[in-house]
Amino acid sequence: MKIVVVGSGYVGLVAGTCFADIGHSVVCVDSDQKKLEKLRQGVMPIYEPGLDDLVARNHASGRLSFTDELGSALTGAHAAFIAVGTPPRATDGHADMKYVHAVAHAIAEKASGDLVVVNKSTVPVGTGDEVERILLSARRPFRFSVVSNPEFLREGVAIDDFMRPDRIVIGSESEWARKVVSGIYEVERLSEAAILHTSRRSAELIKYAANAFLAMKITFINEISDLCEAVGGDVRHVAHGLGLDSRIGSKFLNAGPGYGGSCFPKDTLAISKTARDHRVQLHTIETVIQVNDNRKRAMALRVLDACGGSVRGKTIAVLGLAFKAHTDDMRDSPAIPIIQALQDFGARVRAHDPEAMENAAKLLTNVTFCEDALDAATDSDAVVVLTEWPEFRDLDLGQLKAVMAEPLMIDLRNLMSEDAVLEAGFTYCCVGRNPAG
Ligand code: NAD
Repeated sequence: MKIVVVGSGYVGLVAGTCFADIGHSVVCVDSDQKKLEKLRQGVMPIYEPGLDDLVARNHASGRLSFTDELGSALTGAHAAFIAVGTPPRATDGHADMKYVHAVAHAIAEKASGDLVVVNKSTVPVGTGDEVERILLSARRPFRFSVVSNPEFLREGVAIDDFMRPDRIVIGSESEWARKVVSGIYEVERLSEAAILHTSRRSAELIKYAANAFLAMKITFINEISDLCEAVGGDVRHVAHGLGLDSRIGSKFLNAGPGYGGSCFPKDTLAISKTARDHRVQLHTIETVIQVNDNRKRAMALRVLDACGGSVRGKTIAVLGLAFKAHTDDMRDSPAIPIIQALQDFGARVRAHDPEAMENAAKLLTNVTFCEDALDAATDSDAVVVLTEWPEFRDLDLGQLKAVMAEPLMIDLRNLMSEDAVLEAGFTYCCVGRNPAG
């Protein structure tokens, strides 16, 4: 089939490339010329493991191309996927639909035949109705149908998630549109995925409800982690014991500095705002948002405590800036408020992240970005682990201690081996347990 994907970010680029790889003919459309130029030269605008090879292979085969010309891209297309951003509006936290609506208007104007418009962006319930209204208001002589097909991929493992999804949700009231979208996914390589057909509104809600639930799970274990510290438990053991219950499951039970990233903060906010617009209050989710927000500054206070009550004039080495490992995404990363709080309390911050420093430099000021972890730790009074990059776990702790002014490690991801850190002579603080040393 011929597919157009509008928006070549984390979702659009991965989805478009994977669609090409399973045999479809795909045109990725983006309004960002610099991004398109990079893509045509084989340079990835985002860091996502394995994406460069997959793009190169499908670009070379002629199944995948990049353009800013929506009109020509739509010629002969069976479906157009919308995969643009839906960030929180700065004024009120509602999902900002201006990019989705702009694409809907552009499609309405430029479509040249019958078209199924598939919304992959994460959007409030009812967005499909609005997109349909925009398309129909253009009074073009073609058949349009709008489908909700939310995306569940995780950055860092996005290709694998897309190729081996737990489920594919297709929300549509139209038999024709359902068949077109099912046809896109019903290829041999994806045949094991469960396809769930539902109404458009239910599909839109499934995505928000899933992210809100996962954010709640993280927030829950973070609070249990605080309790573990107070009563002398070990959150890793508690989480393991919890996760063995098949009704609960073991994932998303790692205590840490609070959830962040491009999805959970904005989607929890958006679902709670959407609910209130419908005169429903999601008390649990509103509490989750508040608890998670408070946690980040509380993590900076933890560093303060570990440093003897003050970080004024001290140098803190931060290892990891991205909101999680294997991505360069800094959107709503907990590292931002934690570093800003440390700076507010008078600390100098040196930082290293394997992939996210370029993006971090756009969001943080007065941070010294360092070549590697040892460089960041040089002459520092404490090292704080903020992202669970595996290379930090493999650091030579003897070397690390040797370059530091004080051997103090605050591990907010429970990433390091406690025994190894203590054996190397560090004072070690972590989350959800009280280390022996
Ligand atoms: P992104 O910001 O990385 O990418 C959006 C892209 O859309 C950008 O390249 C931008 O230039 C382009 N764009 C904006 N307006 C355009 C227009 N009018 N025409 C053409 N291109 C345009 O966003 P993302 O992270 O890929 O997220 C996209 C959507 O998918 C969001 O709703 C997000 O919530 C959802 N989502 C994201 C993830 C994730 O892990 N990032 C996972 C699942 C769902």
